[in-house]
Amino acid sequence: MTEIELLHEEIRACRRCEEGGYPISPPPLVWGQAPARFMLIGQAPGLSDLRGERMYLGPAARKLIGWLIEAGFAEEDIGTNLYMTALTKCFPGRLPGKSTDRAPSPKERANCRPWLDAQWTLVQPHVVLLFGKLSIDTFLPKMPLEMAVGNTFELGGITYVPLPHSSGASTWLNDSGHRALLKEALERVREQRLKHL
Ligand code: SF4
Repeated sequence: MTEIELLHEEIRACRRCEEGGYPISPPPLVWGQAPARFMLIGQAPGLSDLRGERMYLGPAARKLIGWLIEAGFAEEDIGTNLYMTALTKCFPGRLPGKSTDRAPSPKERANCRPWLDAQWTLVQPHVVLLFGKLSIDTFLPKMPLEMAVGNTFELGGITYVPLPHSSGASTWLNDSGHRALLKEALERVREQRLKHL
């Protein structure tokens, strides 16, 4: 077994949030090989992911993968050259009375951060794609989405490329100016792909 496969086994066995009384639905989910030049960090798995036992299977993920392909990635890059993960690894459940997912709380994110850090250590990414506001806020604090999306940020030898969330629950992309920023962001992804793959 490789180091990343061993780590995935450890992550899948984690029940830290469930034991802490948080309303999450295990098992934790993972997807990817290490090392990889690119790593994508989203918010948390969705219900389709839980049912399919792998991250990034739902409608928002299909849209995201469409964006990545538009930016020059091949399907085969996803999960190989691009390691796919999230701030938390368990489905956080739905908001009460709603069909949208609950965002993982700060404590749940803190619980899961050591796993993300361990993934990062093995993946050794050159470029990190920050998918959605919660992920952007985690690594580029206090950065408005309008300033983040369309730009790249160099920190500690890593290039960060922010992307908006593709979920139908997000209204950010209803604005034509924001859709233009998404196009810019996909250009930034394309440039990084050409540079590193
Ligand atoms: S969200 Fe992360 S820390 Fe919490 S139980 Fe799942 S894997 Fe463990």
